[in-house]
Amino acid sequence: MAYVITDECISCGACEPECPNMAISSGSAIYIIDPLKCTECVGSFTSSRCAEVCPVEACVPDPDRREGRSDLLARWRALHPGETPAVT
Ligand code: SF4
Ligand code: SF4
Repeated sequence: MAYVITDECISCGACEPECPNMAISSGSAIYIIDPLKCTECVGSFTSSRCAEVCPVEACVPDPDRREGRSDLLARWRALHPGETPAVT
């Protein structure tokens, strides 16, 4: 499932450069994740980078966007045409 940023976000910006899919951006009040670009880091890392670097645990799986690993990998391939996934 895609990750989502909760209201706990303090807009520190630490997560934005960590995302391998450039899915994170600064919103009007808090940072936001584009769910159509989030692969839970499947294809790039073994764990979710945004969740790892967030100092307030504001990056969490979105229970309303449950997706299987194959779908997440397909998304990664669409976002990175011609590249080979580092993690499958
Ligand atoms: S889980 Fe990974 S792909 Fe998704 S927003 Fe966080 S850093 Fe980006
Ligand atoms: S790392 Fe956490 S607190 Fe910082 S901008 Fe990202 S979601 Fe917000």
